[in-house]
Amino acid sequence: MSALSEIYLDLHQHPELAGAEVRTAGIVSAALTAAGYTVTERIGGYGVVGVLTNGDGPVVWLRADMDALPVREETGLDYASTVTAVDADGDTVPVAHACGHDMHVTALIGAAQQLADSTADWSGTVVAIFQPAEEDLSGARAMVDDGLLDRVPRPSVVLGQHVAPGPAGMLFYHPGYTLSASDALEITLFGRGGHGSRPEATVDPIVMAAAVILRLQTIVGREVAATDQAVVTVGVVEAGTKNNIIPETATLKLSVRTFDPVVREKVLAAIDRIVRAEAAASGAPREPEIVTLYSGPATYNDAGALDTVLGAFNKQFAGRVMEIPAGTGSEDFGQFGAAAAAPAVYWFLGGADPQLFAPPADLFQVLAEIPSNHSPEYAPVIEPTLTMGVSALVTAARAWLAP
Ligand SMILES: [Zn+2]
Ligand SMILES: [Zn+2]
Repeated sequence: MSALSEIYLDLHQHPELAGAEVRTAGIVSAALTAAGYTVTERIGGYGVVGVLTNGDGPVVWLRADMDALPVREETGLDYASTVTAVDADGDTVPVAHACGHDMHVTALIGAAQQLADSTADWSGTVVAIFQPAEEDLSGARAMVDDGLLDRVPRPSVVLGQHVAPGPAGMLFYHPGYTLSASDALEITLFGRGGHGSRPEATVDPIVMAAAVILRLQTIVGREVAATDQAVVTVGVVEAGTKNNIIPETATLKLSVRTFDPVVREKVLAAIDRIVRAEAAASGAPREPEIVTLYSGPATYNDAGALDTVLGAFNKQFAGRVMEIPAGTGSEDFGQFGAAAAAPAVYWFLGGADPQLFAPPADLFQVLAEIPSNHSPEYAPVIEPTLTMGVSALVTAARAWLAP
């Protein structure tokens, strides 16, 4: 077993929740230091950055995320996580790398090592960024807010990858908007509580919430053009304690997904307008409160930068690079390129057993049936995922780093 796969197994068996990546950051820091990188720790929480300057040339940022999820691993693997941790609410929860970020960390460590071992072949600067707290879309922002751009050389390009349920050994990409922007909102509607038998003496926030929920459905149906894309989901409705009490408040939690920033602004403005208007229509005694719990920009592949990466990928990995449709999942990778006003490229790394896709199996049929990221049953096969993950990062970085 290679030293790199030992690191993977170690990370997989010691997953840490978003914002608690202290052990993972220590492993990253030690590996980067050993490879000759200048390391800065604790940027935006447990963020770690390694810089390797090797003459003149472009500055390439390579990014991996480090956090795991509150999921009980049910992969049946002999190296499955049995870890529990106390979450931000004080609850003890199982923890697993159900999104594969342990693979991202290991692949970036491997790529950083390979680039450090081949400095005679390239010129420029490599910046390896290990961000905390991707799952709540806060880590990239936290690193930027903690002065990342002033603490390391500014990027010519930002590169990142995510393991996905495609066949291991393959790479997948989408031009332009690759992953959606995500906005999580919490809406509190204020009524006036009272006895369930005397609605005339109350303002019922439950009826108000019901009207809001239905009207919100008209945003995608009636306000977003058929050629644009958006999702507005009400995932939480909370109100009331007893059948004969009209409560004081109702709370809704929304997940909003969009691609185009213009559509994003339009959808968010429509939500604000509808919530306030329905509250007014109900005679609410107080304006509703609308709080953004977290948000992340869309992941966008710059056309020119993607061409550069694809040119290198198609040469190095002929026949193993495939275009796929955009996804409605979200990432905070886009924060780095946006903050630095630099182009970014983000691709997917197949992580599923290639045997599952052997002919005559249909690729998309298999994809629909196998566990995907965030499932308790999700884990990539270690090889060839890891080797491809390292090679993809090195190949993409070298497309910029002049010989
Ligand atoms: Zn995830
Ligand atoms: Zn992820």
